[in-house]
Amino acid sequence: MSQMRDYTGQCHCGAVRFTATTDLSGLADCNCSRCRRLGWIMQSVPASQFKLHSGEDNLTLYHFNTENIDHLFCKTCGIESFARGSDGKGNEMVMVNVNCFDQPPPVDRNTIKHWDGANF
Ligand SMILES: [Zn+2]
Repeated sequence: MSQMRDYTGQCHCGAVRFTATTDLSGLADCNCSRCRRLGWIMQSVPASQFKLHSGEDNLTLYHFNTENIDHLFCKTCGIESFARGSDGKGNEMVMVNVNCFDQPPPVDRNTIKHWDGANF
């Protein structure tokens, strides 16, 4: 297992910049109607381990299905670098798009988790 460390990242144009603290132990993709189009790799972190440095006012909100997740994407470049939601126990979580890290981790799609979002 990797060590807990800080990862900086951004959207494509750089308006949205963030730091996420994670050990990358929960890398996942998802087959729901949105995620399969987006193709992102997620890592969920507690909201306290995510810091948005810039771009809050440049984010557009998208809701679908149960509307429990705030899908936020940059209104300039269209990249969703993170989403906000809850873990179902009332804890605020952030789903970070690790492909948006400045130094993205190597991802083996055969070993990461696969969320069956299509059947939620
Ligand atoms: Zn952008």
